[in-house]
Amino acid sequence: MSESGHVDSNNHTSSADWLSRVAKVFAAGGDLAKGNAHFRARPGQQRMAELVAQAIANETTLVVEAGTGTGKTYAYLAPALLSGKRVLVSTATKALQDQLYLRDLPRLVGLLGVPIRTALLKGRSNYLCTHRLDSHMQSGAVADRFTNNALAKVKRWAATSISGDLSDMPGLDQRSGVIPLVTSNRDNCLGSQCPDFKTCHLQAARREALSADLVVVNHHLFFADQAVRESGMAELLPSVDVVIFDEAHQLNEIGVMFLGTQLSSPQLLDFNRDVLAAGLQHARGLCDWSQQCGILERTIRDLRLCLPATHMKMNVRLPWGGQAPQSVDEGAWSSCLGDLSQAMADVRKDLNSISELAPDFERLLERCDALLQRLQHLLNPVADDHVRWLEAGSHWRWVDSPLDSAQAFAGSAPDSGLTGPTTWVFTSATLGDNAQLDWFAQPLGLTHAQRAVVASPFDFELQAALWVPTDLPMPNEPGHPLMLARRIVPWAQRLGGRTMVLTTSLRALGIIAQELREALTSNNIELLVQGELSKNELLERFRAYADPLRANNGQVSTHRGAVLVASVSFWEGVDIPGEALQLVVLDKLPFPVPDDPLTQARAKRLQASGKSPFTDQVLPDTAVALKQGAGRLIRSELDKGVLVIGDRRLVNMGYGRRLLLAMPAMRRLSSETDMQDYLSGLVTKESTRT
Ligand code: SF4
Repeated sequence: MSESGHVDSNNHTSSADWLSRVAKVFAAGGDLAKGNAHFRARPGQQRMAELVAQAIANETTLVVEAGTGTGKTYAYLAPALLSGKRVLVSTATKALQDQLYLRDLPRLVGLLGVPIRTALLKGRSNYLCTHRLDSHMQSGAVADRFTNNALAKVKRWAATSISGDLSDMPGLDQRSGVIPLVTSNRDNCLGSQCPDFKTCHLQAARREALSADLVVVNHHLFFADQAVRESGMAELLPSVDVVIFDEAHQLNEIGVMFLGTQLSSPQLLDFNRDVLAAGLQHARGLCDWSQQCGILERTIRDLRLCLPATHMKMNVRLPWGGQAPQSVDEGAWSSCLGDLSQAMADVRKDLNSISELAPDFERLLERCDALLQRLQHLLNPVADDHVRWLEAGSHWRWVDSPLDSAQAFAGSAPDSGLTGPTTWVFTSATLGDNAQLDWFAQPLGLTHAQRAVVASPFDFELQAALWVPTDLPMPNEPGHPLMLARRIVPWAQRLGGRTMVLTTSLRALGIIAQELREALTSNNIELLVQGELSKNELLERFRAYADPLRANNGQVSTHRGAVLVASVSFWEGVDIPGEALQLVVLDKLPFPVPDDPLTQARAKRLQASGKSPFTDQVLPDTAVALKQGAGRLIRSELDKGVLVIGDRRLVNMGYGRRLLLAMPAMRRLSSETDMQDYLSGLVTKESTRT
């Protein structure tokens, strides 16, 4: 230990003391036990804490998969807090960020008694931008009354808010159209040239983060900061010694969206709106802003009209390797692009002529140049190690992305020569389907990292069963979802709800939900369907049936229980311990979408290096997704339940064995009778479900 009592990586004789201090936290009678009478020492948690402590002491990189129930949050937080080093923790979503910062962190800081400063830093779109709020209110460019009223409400709230965190504003829907008008993005923020810079909420949050010992961010912000650093703007995130990524399995897919080049209709429309607002406010009459911005807006919207009618309402990714995206007419595309480039050039000319009148114009000019640069980049041929596509839907977006996010973690390699964090820890409950965790480590370039798997403390053989019905139609046959739904009905009735059906497509979700609705309503079982309420509302309502007499905010419910039908976004991050959930049904094996441009480009790369896309990409991706879906069932040592996978390929095809091996070893059921018996065993005596 160093004199300060913290880890000192240069003093090897202190290493044993340091590991022993960390071990004491997790031991019977240790720090955690003192704060919780029900605490039980868990070998997996102790092992993981030891690995993290060693990585911090030795300044190395660690990739550690920690099975469900390990208690991984404390296992990485405790060594980080005790190390005395500056730490950055990044997790996948804002909700997890809040949970970590508001619940886990203060609890542990209290138990360990470490005097450290912590900070929560969110993305800039969470903080009120007073400059943009005022500029939209003063310019008169916002025509509709509804939006003007919303702006006035934000203005009233702003007078009372200290943090400017818009999630604190009562009644503000996070999807409200007013949010882009009162928040900034990296394109439109004026930075140090802003008249509100000194009182800016975002800048204050960043200053607080820069002076904290431990900062909690999310992966999106982490990558956004990387992008900003590249553009030379002031650093957003503090320089730290230790970086810990929780829910690290999401890093690669989030990263590729930030590390490439993008251009989208909302981005351009936002720029256009800001030009109009600034023009009318600071240079009215010097240019015909309304006409010029009207033309630009039309060319942005017209680009969408080039797309095939069938794609206009669907969110699809059209591969774009040649002159135009797949199934888009090259002539029409090139003419629309010409009009867009011309309209942008005309706006640039106007901005250039008055750029000295206000800092807004200088910034808008820079932004215009950056957008034109992206436009030009996307008109050049795509690089070999990149993939390009067009996302079509209610808006359009062009993406030119690297195939993986390795460049963001280059600094973790011992010979990188880059300054920055000395310890990198990556953890999640699911990081691959083999002991080397190749699925996770290879795309991120973490081949130098120590890799470890810490097993879940749950006894899956005892707590869970797996049933794969082999008499259902093949998953690609049209009748599959309906037949599966009909099988689910008696199971859900037997359990009085307590069932979650996870589908791989919205089509299957619709068919299954419709069939279940009719059958379950007459049995007093509530059907909860993704899309009918927000994710949080659905989960809260579902959890409430753990006490079947009381759901709906404490009022007596007429339903005995609930069945939740949801799709891809519920396959992970859903935690429902206890009796509220006893049956999880996965409609089929979650193979990746084959025509996704990123999947296709990665497959091509594998083929070029003599590997098999199916063995080396499709199967590991599927195994990880399957582990995540299956992981919804058993969430505590007391849970019991059954997992049904409605896809007979799992037992009939050779590759099924590899997928089965990736999942926890559960008891296998072999017939519908077995299934009924197992369900009967789950129905507890005290339940009022029958
Ligand atoms: S510095 Fe940027 S975010 Fe802050 S008030 Fe100014 S424009 Fe808005």
